[in-house]
Amino acid sequence: MEKNWAGNVTYRATAIHHPATLADLRSLVARTRRIRALGTRHAFNELADTGGELVSLARMPKEVEVDSSAAQVRVSAGLRYAQFAEDLDLKGFALPNLASLPHISVAGATATATHGSGSGNGSLATSVAGLEIVTADGELRTINRGEEDFDGAVVNLGALGVVTGLTLDLVPAFEIRQYVHEGLPLGDDVLAVLDGAYSVSLFTDWSSDTINQVWVKQRATDPEFVPPGTTPADGPRHPVPHMSPENCTPQLGVPGRSFERLPHFRPEFTPSAGEELQTEFMVSRQDALAALRAVHEIHDRVHPVVQISEVRAIAADELWLSPFHRRDTVSIHFTWIADAARVLPVVSLLGEKLAPFDARPHWAKIFDMTPEVLRSRYERLQDFRDLARRLDPEGKFRNEMVDGLLS
Ligand SMILES: Cc1cc2nc3c(=O)[nH]c(=O)nc-3n(C[C@H](O)[C@H](O)[C@H](O)COP(=O)(O)OP(=O)(O)OC[C@H]3O[C@@H](n4cnc5c(N)ncnc54)[C@H](O)[C@@H]3O)c2cc1C
Repeated sequence: MEKNWAGNVTYRATAIHHPATLADLRSLVARTRRIRALGTRHAFNELADTGGELVSLARMPKEVEVDSSAAQVRVSAGLRYAQFAEDLDLKGFALPNLASLPHISVAGATATATHGSGSGNGSLATSVAGLEIVTADGELRTINRGEEDFDGAVVNLGALGVVTGLTLDLVPAFEIRQYVHEGLPLGDDVLAVLDGAYSVSLFTDWSSDTINQVWVKQRATDPEFVPPGTTPADGPRHPVPHMSPENCTPQLGVPGRSFERLPHFRPEFTPSAGEELQTEFMVSRQDALAALRAVHEIHDRVHPVVQISEVRAIAADELWLSPFHRRDTVSIHFTWIADAARVLPVVSLLGEKLAPFDARPHWAKIFDMTPEVLRSRYERLQDFRDLARRLDPEGKFRNEMVDGLLS
């Protein structure tokens, strides 16, 4: 009875394998009829699962190889960001961005286009310069940026094979100061606030038309950005009202290395006990205010079941299955209470409210859009289907979600 991190999905797979070498992994993949890769289990839906078998890379060798002259790092795919962010810093490098928590695996984050915030920052998948992948025949292939298949292979939903290594672009190490400001009116300033610093997150519980908190993560060398109409928090805050900020990264403008400020949560703490579900919808940035107002129209349905919502900005990219494909994006995220029966009707309603904006859901969170609707929102889907057929002609890596999308 193996479950995901949130405990809302019990994997149906008949076995979870833990190969310790690449040779073992390749032979496992070659001989297994249906198999999918499992990362750190942070997806909230059945994306990782299969009626066949699962394979975890957690016991594979942990490799972190920095190429300083190329400003790149090659990492084993199963590593969590927290396992190598400090190593990069010690060598004078950093990843440009990180998600809200550093506990997730690089391959799982990449496969689902996991993102942080910042109008100028792409998703974490946009840092990928190359990937090594064991395909259905057990062969190890390398697909590098510039090759024809690359833009299709990065955000892959686990449907192309088992990624074993990734090469990531780095930037020079940098410092961030994090401030929390309270009480931003939901109005015309929202985009300007999201654009106001390196990475900005807006947190609201939809109890009113005021955004509870603005988390400003600015480069330590940039002048302080104060969102208009807000009040600086008088102490550290947790995004969820009344929760202790103990497990949050340092605030109040204390400068720190980027990997210790860009995530909201510290690596040494579990951000919560998994008592939550999550949903996230992505809309074009020009539709952001209208989309937020559409959610506000049903705030009486959202507020009772939401712990907190987070609004972030993400730059457009070229990755075929990325929710940010060719669209500068604002994402509207919901951390729900752990009560699926009460939450799911609200998720459906949100899907309807945000349909006029062609909202794309986060692949790893809860949504109930039909495959037809999903397919209509990805212009390169046919190309991905062709790529998947070429690398996985028998559908070894498919599951129901992938089948629905690619049928
Ligand atoms: C508390 C919490 C906070 C989160 N915060 C954010 C956030 O800030 N931003 C955001 O965008 N998302 C966020 N997420 C969502 C999270 O980033 C995604 O669920 C991501 O997929 C997690 O990676 P994982 O390794 O746990 O994936 P898993 O759930 O294990 O797998 C997800 C998918 O990745 C595939 N996969 C995993 N490993 C491999 C591999 N080696 N090769 C091929 N495919 C593979 C799986 O097959 C599956 O399809 C959060 C989730 C949680 C629980």
